[in-house]
Amino acid sequence: MSAATGPRTDDLPASAQVVIVGAGIIGCFVGAELARAGAEVCVVDRAGPAAGSSSSGEGNLLASDKLPGPDLAFALESLSRWRRLGEELFARIEYREKGGLVVARTEQDWQALSELAERQRRQGLEARPLEGEELWALEPLLDRSVRGAYFYPGDAQVQPMLAVRALVAAIRRHGGRVVAGAEVRAAERGRGGELTALLTTRGRVAVGTHVVNAAGAWAGALSGLLGCPIPVSPRRGHVLVTEPVGSVTEHKVYESGYLGSVHDGDGEGSVSAVVESTAAGTMLLGSSREFVGFERSPSLPVMRAIAARAIALFPGLAGVRLMRGYVGFRPATPDRLPVLGADERAPSVLHATGHEGAGVGLAPATAAAIADLVLGRAPGVDVGAFSAARFAGQAAR
Ligand SMILES: Cc1cc2nc3c(=O)[nH]c(=O)nc-3n(C[C@H](O)[C@H](O)[C@H](O)COP(=O)(O)OP(=O)(O)OC[C@H]3O[C@@H](n4cnc5c(N)ncnc54)[C@H](O)[C@@H]3O)c2cc1C
Repeated sequence: MSAATGPRTDDLPASAQVVIVGAGIIGCFVGAELARAGAEVCVVDRAGPAAGSSSSGEGNLLASDKLPGPDLAFALESLSRWRRLGEELFARIEYREKGGLVVARTEQDWQALSELAERQRRQGLEARPLEGEELWALEPLLDRSVRGAYFYPGDAQVQPMLAVRALVAAIRRHGGRVVAGAEVRAAERGRGGELTALLTTRGRVAVGTHVVNAAGAWAGALSGLLGCPIPVSPRRGHVLVTEPVGSVTEHKVYESGYLGSVHDGDGEGSVSAVVESTAAGTMLLGSSREFVGFERSPSLPVMRAIAARAIALFPGLAGVRLMRGYVGFRPATPDRLPVLGADERAPSVLHATGHEGAGVGLAPATAAAIADLVLGRAPGVDVGAFSAARFAGQAAR
């Protein structure tokens, strides 16, 4: 079980109305939403809460990096739900609405960023262009050769492991269970082919109405086992953590090239500068994207490239020491958008996965949508664009 949540685990029940596979930020958010609404919830994880990507990424809640259309609409909805969670919780999960700054290095980048920001603004996202003195006033240590930037005041940050811990407590407070050490290995079916139970390494749990696939980067494998395969693949990322340095920047600062690396295909892998501070005073430096399976050994060339790009953005970082680096796996679909909702090949399965580098940010809207589907309520969040049906016949990479 992870350090974030302590050693406690619940026993596997004989049955549960809703069995959620995966105790990351998504499974736990869904679990808390459903438990609060009175559903009988059991979250199972082969390791424990926040054992997967939710403890090996960062905690940015971003709308700035979303493309206009359903992607941005869903992010705006989710960020507004984060905002409504309340001060008492915010203090426990290091929630900070610190704003994001997207930096264009060249005239060409500036034109592309301005065009994107204009389209985002038309969809309701607040974005302010900053150039010259105005930009240096906001970010005094930013390299002076950059062309300009857009400031997105609504971008925020949390500590994802603390958020998972708070969600686990909420699930238990409302009578739900969170079972560690229970890997789902097989599904049992009734005569009509309907899914009746999951067989885990801790025993069998009968499924009342729904199974939620919240297995993150492993959701592709789990979906196969549930009889409704979806193409979710691990997209590896590195994060470097510096020694505590005080305040280099108070915002999340990233270069506009990051947007291309998030949304485009990248057979060769890509690196772009993402720089931010944490409540502990350390800096987190990212970001890389590669399809190398679940390879856990960090790549020195990728780590060097991340450091070099961060220094190009903030030259003052050159003398700062790195404390450590780590890798994590983003759950990626072919179009980089999540897979949410029912699957007609397995009617009791609901997918809640494929959030790529945005699962923390998109967790509240995901949970709301899944809870509505489980409880048969009119959907409060539109997830039509994220149906599994769009991938009919596509395999994971
Ligand atoms: C470097 C990096 C930086 C990132 N930065 C951000 C960011 O700033 N903001 C943001 O929003 N997102 C970010 N992300 C993405 C974010 O971390 C993920 O989108 C999110 O954590 C996915 O959450 P999840 O709950 O779906 O998956 P996970 O947290 O991986 O949880 C899935 C769980 O399922 C369990 N599991 C899998 N298979 C089984 C099985 N068969 N039986 C039982 N249990 C199983 C696993 O043990 C795991 O605990 C980043 C990711 C990386 C790698």
